[in-house]
Formats: sequence, C-alpha cells, structure tokens
Amino acid sequence: MTFADFALGEGRFAKQFRKAPPETWNDEGDNAMVLLADFLKLPADDRDGKFPYIWAVDKQQHLMRVLVSAELVNSCAERQQFWQQLKDVAGLNKPEVDEAAIAAQARAELLGQIGASLASLGAGVAVDASAAPAATPVAKSADGYEPVYVDTPECTACDECTKLAPKAFAYNDDKKSVVINPQGAKFADLVKAAEKCTASCIHPGTPWNLNEPGIDKLIARAAKYN
Ligand code: SF4
Repeated sequence: MTFADFALGEGRFAKQFRKAPPETWNDEGDNAMVLLADFLKLPADDRDGKFPYIWAVDKQQHLMRVLVSAELVNSCAERQQFWQQLKDVAGLNKPEVDEAAIAAQARAELLGQIGASLASLGAGVAVDASAAPAATPVAKSADGYEPVYVDTPECTACDECTKLAPKAFAYNDDKKSVVINPQGAKFADLVKAAEKCTASCIHPGTPWNLNEPGIDKLIARAAKYN
C-alpha cells in the first residue's frame, strides 16, 4: 500500500494516473512495468526505463494496471520518509531486542562473577594455609561452625579414631583416616579422638551441637588440637 493507492481514489490526483491497457503490460526488459511498492525500493539508477504502476479495478471490476506519474512517485517517496521519521520519534525503529541473547549474556556474566568469587575465596584459604602450614584449611559455616577434619596424609592408621567414632572416621583406599561425617559422633568423642591420635592429625573444630553436656570444657580441650 502506497500513498498512490490512496490518491487514486481522490479526484484531485486524477492527472497523476494513466490506465495501461492489458496489451501494453510488460514485466521484463526495456520499458518494464514495476509495481510501485517495488519501484520505490529501487536505487535511482535502476529506475531508468521502468514504469511504476499500481493495481486497481475498473467499473466492471476488471483488474487493471494504472501507471503513476513521476511527480506522484516522488510524493510517495516523501511520505515513506515522513513515516520513517514518525516511527523514529516513536522509538519504533529500534533494533529488535534479542531476549535469548540477553539472557545468555546475563547467565555468562553471573557465572563469571561466581567463578571470580570462588577464585578469590580459594586464594584467601591458601593464604591461611601458608600462615599455618601444619594444619589443613577448614571450611567454616556461616554461623562459625568448623567441622572436624583430619590431616589425612599424616595418618599412621593406628585405628584409634575409627574405633572410637566409626560413623565419623573411616579409612580411605590408602588406609588413611578421613572424615566421613563430621557430625557422626558426639563432640566429646571427636575431642577424645584428637587426644588419642598418635599422629596428632585430628582437629576437632567446634561443636555441631552446643547443647552437649560439658560443652565449654570440651571446647577448651579441642582448642589444643585446632
Ligand atoms: S587416630 Fe590419627 S593416626 Fe590414628 S587412625 Fe585416626 S587419624 Fe590416623
């Protein structure tokens, strides 16, 4: 739909149109007829020798081609330009938003931030480890809870801890003690295991149940091994 399609119904523009008899219709080669909407998309150089037309019907409802004057073609081009300007003002000519791409980018950025945070956390732990080389770093929970841990490479497989708290300690494939469940024994037994450990490689951490009887004394005893 062009401005010419509208103008055809207005008597004041009658001079801008000329009906093309069917025997003159020609879609190829020199003097080809080109639908006005397509003609308006052509570069100026490609318009030479072509005749823009629009479709219409006569009084007998027969389809006919109506050639459009150069003056009206210019008016159509101007109105197309105005229309684009109006869309620009309304912000309708902005590039389409690719929501999937934005979501993917946000995910990638978020993962990057998480990765960076984990990396800095890991760096912080490494500093602590170098400050206390005899101890393996402990993962602290948000409330300050420090689970029991074993310096596994130091273990001499004396069986003390695995017998005392078999639900908390077990041997790995190298017959070295590891923690299988930091809350698999009372804190009292974890402290006792640390005290009995012949390699002094058990670190009881802090109690996971502060209601355990004699907890203050147990904490004091555990402190020597943390
Ligand atoms: S008590 Fe210590 S040395 Fe003995 S098995 Fe347990 S961790 Fe290893």
